[in-house]
Amino acid sequence: MTKAGPGFSTLAIHAGAQPDPTTGARVTPIYQTTSFVFDDTDHAAALFGLQQFGNIYTRIMNPTQAVLEERVAALEGGTAALAVASGHAAQLLVFHTIMRPGDNFVAAKQLYGGSVNQFGHAFKSFDWQVRWADCVDPASFDAKIDERTKGIFIESLANPGGTFVDIAAIAEVARKHGLPLIVDNTMATPYLLRPLEHGADIVVHSLTKFIGGHGNSMGGIIVDGGTYDWSKSGKYPLLSEPRPEYAGVVLHEVFGNFAFAIAARVLGLRDLGPAISPFNAFMILTGIETLPLRMQRHCDNALAVAKWLKEHDKLSWVRYSGLDDDPNNALQKRYSPKGAGAVFTFGLKGGYDAGKRLVEGLELFSHLANIGDTRSLVIHPASTTHRQLTPEQQVAAGAGPDVIRLSIGIEDVADIVADLEQSLAKI
Ligand SMILES: *Cc1c(COP(=O)(O)O)cnc(C)c1O
Repeated sequence: MTKAGPGFSTLAIHAGAQPDPTTGARVTPIYQTTSFVFDDTDHAAALFGLQQFGNIYTRIMNPTQAVLEERVAALEGGTAALAVASGHAAQLLVFHTIMRPGDNFVAAKQLYGGSVNQFGHAFKSFDWQVRWADCVDPASFDAKIDERTKGIFIESLANPGGTFVDIAAIAEVARKHGLPLIVDNTMATPYLLRPLEHGADIVVHSLTKFIGGHGNSMGGIIVDGGTYDWSKSGKYPLLSEPRPEYAGVVLHEVFGNFAFAIAARVLGLRDLGPAISPFNAFMILTGIETLPLRMQRHCDNALAVAKWLKEHDKLSWVRYSGLDDDPNNALQKRYSPKGAGAVFTFGLKGGYDAGKRLVEGLELFSHLANIGDTRSLVIHPASTTHRQLTPEQQVAAGAGPDVIRLSIGIEDVADIVADLEQSLAKI
C-alpha cells in the first residue's frame, strides 16, 4: 500500500507546528506581541516590499496565527490560508479581494442568518450586490449570472436546517461561466467533507464553531484552493494588475497558486484590519487537535437524538439528513459518509408557543445563538438568529416560526435525550 501522506487526525495535531526553536516548547506558544524586530534595514525593506516573507506587525501576520493557517490549509487540502478575527471578517476579505463597486455575486439563499444580513445589507455600502439563488437548484445560479458577476457563494452543509448541497453541480455552473466558487464549510468542517475536492476554489470558515469547538474563541479563516486562474479574465485587478502599494508587484504573477491568500492578507487584512488575536489562534489550534474525535461524537449523538425525536408524538417533523428517509440523505451519503453533522431542526405540533416552552424547559441544553460547542445548544431561529429576515426569507432559509434548531454536543447521549424528554413532557 502506498501512503499519500499523514492522515487527517495526524494533520489535526501536527500540521504547521514544530517545537519552538528557541525554548523547545512542544506546544505552539502564544506569541503575544504586536511587532517583530528586523535584522537590519535591508531586511525591513524586503519585508515591506513583499520580496521576503516574515513577521512585521500582528495585524498582518503572527507566528501563532501562521501555525493555525498552515494547519487548516492542510486539513482542507488548500495551498495556503489566512486566519482573521471572525467568520464574517473572512467573508468580508474574500469579497474585498474579488469585488469592485458595481459588481455582483450569486449566493445560495440557504445561509447562516448573519451572512444573509452581511451580504444583503452591509455589502451595499461598498456597492457590492448579492443575487440570491436556491442551493437545491444549480440552474437558479446560472440564471443570475451576468458580466459583472465575480463569484458564487454557498454553504456545504447549509444553515439552519443542516442540508448537504450538491457542491459539484454548482461548481459546474461556476466553471461554465469561469467564476470562482466560494464555499463556507463551517457546519461540516474538513473532517466531514472537503469542498476543494468537489470543485470549490476558496473555502471560508467561522472557526468560532466546530473547528475551535469549545465555544470560547472567535475566529475565521480563508483557505486558498490554488485552483483558480485569477489572470485569465481580467476581472480581478487586485490579483492580476500591478499594485501601486507594492512597487508594481502583480500578486498572481509572483505568488501563483497561493496569490489569493496573499492578496487577502496584504491588501485586505492589512488595510481593513480584522486580525485574529494570538490568544484566540492558540485556543482554536488546541481545539483542532481533537476535531476528528469531536466531530464523530457530534454526528453519532445527533443521529441518535434525531431518531429518538422522530418517534415523539409532540413533534410534527424532524429534518436530519442522516435519517435514512430524509430527502437529503442521498447527498449526505455522497458528500459526508462519516456523518451528517450536529445541527438539525424540527417542528412542534404546538407551533410557536410550544417551541418557546420547550426551549424554556430544557436544563442541560443552553439557550443561545451559537453552534458547534461541546455543549448541546438550542435556539428558536425565527426570534433570534433569523429575526432580521422577512417572514418569506425566514421560511426560505428553513427558519419558519415553528422551527427549533439543535446543535447536539458531545455529552452522554442518554443525558441529552433525557433533557429533551423532560421538557417535552411539560408541554
Ligand atoms: C457563525 C457562522 C458564520 C459567521 O462567523 P462568525 O465567526 O460568527 O463571524 C458564518 N457562516 C456560518 C455557517 C456560521 O455558522
